[in-house]
This record gives sequence, structure tokens and C-alpha cells, in this order.
Amino acid sequence: MKRRIVLIVLAVCLAAGGALYWATRAEPRYEKYSTTFFSFDTVISIIGYAPDLNTFENVTKKAEERFMELHCLYDKYNAYEGVVNLYTVNTMAASRPVKVPDDLYDLIKYSHDMVPVTKDTVNIALGPVLLLWHDAREAAIANPAAAYLPGIQELQAADQHTDLGKLVLNDAQKTVFFEDPAMQLDVGAVAKGYAAEVVAQEMLKGPMPSFIINAGGNVRTGHPPRDGRPNWGVAVQDPDGYVSGDGVSDVLDILFLHDTSVVTSGDYQRYFEYQGKRYHHIISPVTLMPTDFFRSVSIVTESSAYADLLSTCLFLMPYEEGRVFVESLEGVEALWILNDRSIRMTDGLKDKASSQGASNPNPNQ
Ligand code: ADP
Ligand code: MG
Repeated sequence: MKRRIVLIVLAVCLAAGGALYWATRAEPRYEKYSTTFFSFDTVISIIGYAPDLNTFENVTKKAEERFMELHCLYDKYNAYEGVVNLYTVNTMAASRPVKVPDDLYDLIKYSHDMVPVTKDTVNIALGPVLLLWHDAREAAIANPAAAYLPGIQELQAADQHTDLGKLVLNDAQKTVFFEDPAMQLDVGAVAKGYAAEVVAQEMLKGPMPSFIINAGGNVRTGHPPRDGRPNWGVAVQDPDGYVSGDGVSDVLDILFLHDTSVVTSGDYQRYFEYQGKRYHHIISPVTLMPTDFFRSVSIVTESSAYADLLSTCLFLMPYEEGRVFVESLEGVEALWILNDRSIRMTDGLKDKASSQGASNPNPNQ
């Protein structure tokens, strides 16, 4: 009898211990951590919910290294020792097919294949035209008194060398060749978003899938924050706002989302002024000039590469045309800030926007 009681007590203890073990194992505590670093000519921040600081640091160190590596590959202005990057392609690909690393080939291929999807608006072969605008912007920023606009004849001459049909890609060899010696690729419309998607996909497979990456307004959210809130809050910047200490004055709307991207193209991100008028960095392949249909457009779709490509594309279309276009795309939503600062959004965003009454309750607080 005594032996039976001892056995029962032992069994109860084991069961309780086991339950406690599984309870603590199944529910590790998640802490919120954040970090920032500089890459892709912008500040990149990552916030994540991790079981401990060590996990967070390991994950974000790897993410930072990937961003640095990809930026070096997609850089068209600088050469790096021992690296075949976009600069190498732009200087060598007219004389021979250049074999490039997979990460660069994949981006060029993606951008090339998406041209028909963007209705010929985003053309990575627009390099010669974009370079003229880049030089004018740099000159004006260095010395506003010396600001000038690229001449239309100069722009039209450069536009003679923007035919994407003259870009020869070899999928088997991963080589890039220019049939036009004056061809220059510029992947600025998609590179940052593409890189953020590469990093996000790697992070989703790792030990910290609950994260948000903000690469200078190019936002990629992972799984929901592990503090009870169903979503991440993604701010839509006021085009006339300013980045203040608490960020409040800079926000026009907030979108509550997870496992998706929000990428914005706006007239306030990179620009210069000439004779009192603003000239930004998104150039119509038709007029060869910046557009002024509205102030900004934010695209919401899962892939940050697609969102980046579409944000530049939509920025080049009048609001009405862009709206019909976005509504024809599967899994894509958009928010525009018009010239009078009013907000328009596709129906799929209405239950996600704070301006429409959406919120992000935290039941644990
Ligand atoms: P950001 O670089 O501020 O994130 P975008 O994603 O809209 O903004 O990309 C703008 C960049 O895309 C420009 O700096 C330029 O390098 C490139 N670009 C501008 N217009 C075009 C175009 N019509 N086709 C392809 N690339 C473009
Ligand atoms: Mg873009």
C-alpha cells in the first residue's frame, strides 16, 4: 500500500514537471529589440520579437551583411575590389557578355521580365536619361545657385540608347550583354525593395520571423508582433512633414498589416529645385521629365520587390489610370496622396487604415 502511494506521488510529480516543462517550452517569452544601420544610401531599421538578445543580434547581423552585399552588387556608381557588380556590367557589357553573380542576375532578369507588367513605365535601360537628371540634381544640391535642367535635346539623344530589346540576357550562363554600346542599366526603381525581399525571405525561415524592416520608407513586415497586437503599424509619411523626435508630425495615415510590404514613391524623397519648382527623381520614359500627377503613392503587396517596382510604375501614371490598373492586379492595394494632400485608397485597404477607423488593439495591455 505504502509503495503504491509513493508510486502515485511520483507519477503526479512527473506529470506536473512535464506539464511545466511543456508550458515553458511552448511559450517562450519574446522581447522586442531594434537596430539600425546604413545601407542602400539610407537608414535601415529592423524591429523584431526574439526569445533573447543573442538571437536578435545574430539574425540582424546576418540581415545587415546581406543588405551590404546586395548594395555592393547593385551599385552602378562604384567598383569594389574583386566584385562583379552593376558598375562592372555598365562599363564592360558592351564589349563582351559579362558573367554576374546570381543575386545581380536575378534582379536584372526580374526587372527585365516585369517591363510589360508595368506597361513600359519602369525601364532599367533608362540609365542614360536618368544619369542626366542625376547629374543635374547633384549639381543643384552642391550649389543651388548653379541649378539647371537637362536640355530636351540632350535628353532625347540619351533616349536613343534606352531600348531594353538590346539587353541580351543568358539564363544558362548568367551573362549580360549590351547590343548598344551606349546602354546603361539603372536598377534604382526596384533594387532596394528587391534586396528587402531577399533579406525578409531569409529572416522568415530563421528563428525570428516576427519582424519589420524599414529601408528608408521601403517597409517589409514579417509575422505579427509577439506582444498580442494582430498587426504592425506602418506609417504613411506626410509629403510636407518633417522627421521629428517622436515622428508624430510626419504621419498622414497608418496601415495595420503583417506579412506584407508597403513601398512608397514620392516627390519629396529625392529632388532639387530650379526657379522655384521641384524636380524629383522619377522620370517618365515618354516625356523624359519628372511627373507631377500627385505627391506620393504607396503600394501594399506581399513581395517588397513587386511593391517597389509598382510604386515607381504607379507614380508615372495619373491617379485615375493608376487606380484602374491596380484594381486589375491580384493581391495589390494602393494609397495615393494627391496634390491637395487628400488621401485616396483602394477598397482593400479601407479596413487597414487608421484614417478609416482601423486600430491595432493590444489585449495584453
Ligand atoms: P526610391 O529610390 O526613393 O525608393 P523609387 O523606387 O521610385 O524611389 O525609384 C526611383 C529611382 O528609380 C530613381 O532614382 C532612378 O534611379 C530610377 N528611375 C526613375 N525613373 C525611372 C523609370 N521610368 N524607369 C526605371 N527607373 C527609373
Ligand atoms: Mg520603386
